[in-house]
Amino acid sequence: MRTSYATGLRCIKCGQAYPKKYLLECSVCKGLLELQYDLEGLARIRPCHLEGLNLWRYAPFLPIENSANFVSLGEGMTPLLFCPRLAEVLGLRELYIKFEGTNPTGTLKDRSSATAVSAALEFGYRATAVVSTGNAGSSLAAYSARAGLYSFIFCYEKGAQPKMAHMGACASELVLYKGGYDDLIKIYDRLMEEEPIFECGASRNPYKQEGKKTIAYEIYEQLGERVPDYFISPVAVGETFIATWRGFNEMKAIGWSDKLPTMVAAQARRANPVALALASRGPLVPQRIGYTIAEGVAVGDPGKKGEWVLRILREAKGLAGDASDEEIIEAQGLLAKTEGIWAGPTGCVTVAVLRDLVAKGAIPCEASVVCLVSETGLKGEYPRIEQEAIEPTLETVRRILQKALDLGSDPKAKGP
Ligand SMILES: *Cc1c(COP(=O)(O)O)cnc(C)c1O
Ligand SMILES: [Zn+2]
Repeated sequence: MRTSYATGLRCIKCGQAYPKKYLLECSVCKGLLELQYDLEGLARIRPCHLEGLNLWRYAPFLPIENSANFVSLGEGMTPLLFCPRLAEVLGLRELYIKFEGTNPTGTLKDRSSATAVSAALEFGYRATAVVSTGNAGSSLAAYSARAGLYSFIFCYEKGAQPKMAHMGACASELVLYKGGYDDLIKIYDRLMEEEPIFECGASRNPYKQEGKKTIAYEIYEQLGERVPDYFISPVAVGETFIATWRGFNEMKAIGWSDKLPTMVAAQARRANPVALALASRGPLVPQRIGYTIAEGVAVGDPGKKGEWVLRILREAKGLAGDASDEEIIEAQGLLAKTEGIWAGPTGCVTVAVLRDLVAKGAIPCEASVVCLVSETGLKGEYPRIEQEAIEPTLETVRRILQKALDLGSDPKAKGP
């Protein structure tokens, strides 16, 4: 088995082919680039041939040639959790949560950081850079440090404190900026073309996106070599959605699976350009967005990747939905109480959207569903719990215990 079966890059718009190199867009038409693979070679691989329990288990399906360049902090192989109690509340029969919060920096960004930083090494770069609200920055900073590369992390000055502290610790250079993302990004993009830096933003780099494809392969293996009927993915810029769709398609092309899941794009209501465009059957209209609690998906202008997501949704008859901040917070609590999964608001957008689509009958109750929850809840900032503390006396504590236990009608039940 070869290390990588990637053969080169191809423009998704005009089809122009390129050898494997660092290139952010098609030099003919400025279209986005995607990696191409030797599918005949990959078709000879069976899941039982795969080795290792991190992202590099799927090395043949990834673009890094030299295994000396594989960078890892133990990302991937996140749990696929069967969730019967949550399923009952939502009205589903077979629901799994793919929980990305167990990745080394707590989000699915570690998958894309692993392939981006490894590609930077492979192409001989010594520095990486990204503009981030928190998750991408802390992940890229950590993986760059792990690889011995210099990292420039540009972060909005009002990012969440736990994420800023994390970035500050791992980054070579943390640059805080004032104003909005839109103001910085134009200057940043121009400088990235001039300087010898491996750009690790979500909007163009095909090597970065590719790491997220492994989510699809893991789901296939964890479900006992099959794909679900529905797969719910968050959409900010669209990397996760596009990459997992590429993964499911590759598995079909090489004969591992005979079907594809129905793809479902989940967005926050305050940043929902893709969901709106699909519902209105019109073009994608960029939005100027304000605050949403789901800060990891607060993208109003997903650019060319947003168009790509929309094209996939239309061609493959996918679904899209959005959720309000209130619904997202409700989903966060529900996930915690019913299954013990503690995810941040951004991670819960998919659960809130799934709940709505099942209630509307858009997803049938007998379907098998995998819902991606993209981050841990442990990196967020939350309001203080407003609750009076008790006096620690025997009587008070006994009263609390007995009151709760009395509420359980079955005395043999394990608890309330
Ligand atoms: C970045 C991010 C996403 C999705 O972003 P895409 O660009 O659409 O892949 C989802 N959840 C979290 C927590 C993120 O940090
Ligand atoms: Zn092109």
